[in-house]
Amino acid sequence: MMNNRTGIYVHIPFCIKKCDYCDFISASNYELEDQYFEKLITEIQYRGNEERETDDGNKVINTIYFGGGTPSSVRLDNIRKVVTALKEKFNLAKLEEMTIEVNPGTCNNDNIQNYYEMGFNRLSIGVQSFDEEMLKRIGRIHNRADIYKTVDIAQKAGFKNISIDLMYGLPNDSLERLEKDLKLAMEMNLQHISTYGLIVEEGTKFYDELNEGRLLLPEEDELLQMRDLINRKLFDQGFKRYEIANYAKAGYESKHNLIYWNNDDYYGFGLNSTTKVDDRRYMNEPDILKYIGSNEFEKYNLEEITEVMKIEEAIFLGLRLIEGIDLVDYFNRYNIDIKEKYKKVIDELIDIKAMWLGDRTLRLTDYGFEISNYCLAKFLS
Ligand code: SF4
Repeated sequence: MMNNRTGIYVHIPFCIKKCDYCDFISASNYELEDQYFEKLITEIQYRGNEERETDDGNKVINTIYFGGGTPSSVRLDNIRKVVTALKEKFNLAKLEEMTIEVNPGTCNNDNIQNYYEMGFNRLSIGVQSFDEEMLKRIGRIHNRADIYKTVDIAQKAGFKNISIDLMYGLPNDSLERLEKDLKLAMEMNLQHISTYGLIVEEGTKFYDELNEGRLLLPEEDELLQMRDLINRKLFDQGFKRYEIANYAKAGYESKHNLIYWNNDDYYGFGLNSTTKVDDRRYMNEPDILKYIGSNEFEKYNLEEITEVMKIEEAIFLGLRLIEGIDLVDYFNRYNIDIKEKYKKVIDELIDIKAMWLGDRTLRLTDYGFEISNYCLAKFLS
């Protein structure tokens, strides 16, 4: 467990078209782009100044992540201005990782090359599937050729740390389709793969289709087989599963996401993003017009993170990691002996073979990951 690291998340909410399964807050009104970026930069400057006043301005930033939405669908000069504002207001001397999410269909030599030159050293590509029919079915704007083009351009531009997202459990999905996707992914010299099982969220096109009986989804046992297939195929190709849904070649684990899972601090800039710094957590305005229109940066759901919350959240997040929780680090950080405090829960989970306890490690087993919601809930008071 690495401690005392800090990340910055920047939210770019624009997407060319809403995907059929997506419930993220995203906007397709690019007429608002310049106003949004103007406000985003003001927010970074404002919070950067606030940070200087409260914390001697010297918090070292370890990672930056531009997510969305589709950051690759907005103009380069806007991305560049945000990077400049971050450099001016935060201490980036020890920055290790700077990621930008891109979607095939919105990438070309120009934007990818420029991201690299701006200092981004990691790309996260929203591939989802290589299957043309499936891409259409889930409402994505890209095709397989766009994926190849994006990865090729990125590798030629110099990116040596490329991640892709893959989805499974999709409408009319099959093990054969997933196996083909995994095979094609393995041919691309990638460093990281995130996998997402479809969850049908309210307010999406899929939600309506489900209610109308038009969405045929795999049964639970087939989903289990899909997860098992992912584990086996990626393991065979040298990808280590390091978190419930994430796989990486050695040394390419997402440093930014590890900040969340290690319960470290992060700033969130832009629409609807969350900040958790120095035991305080708050969210930004979720409505784009209000975000653009307001002259203040209101902190929504502002809460002080209590000792109990810290202790539970660190367990909840740490158990998502394959290596689990380092009990010595945990004790040094929170002054809690997990083995003693949660003895009953741990014994119960060990009994059903969902948990493993070593001298200084507590972690879920493969079976524990399958029923992770059940296991994690046990630790909440
Ligand atoms: S590109 Fe991503 S954020 Fe945008 S609508 Fe699709 S899934 Fe949602």
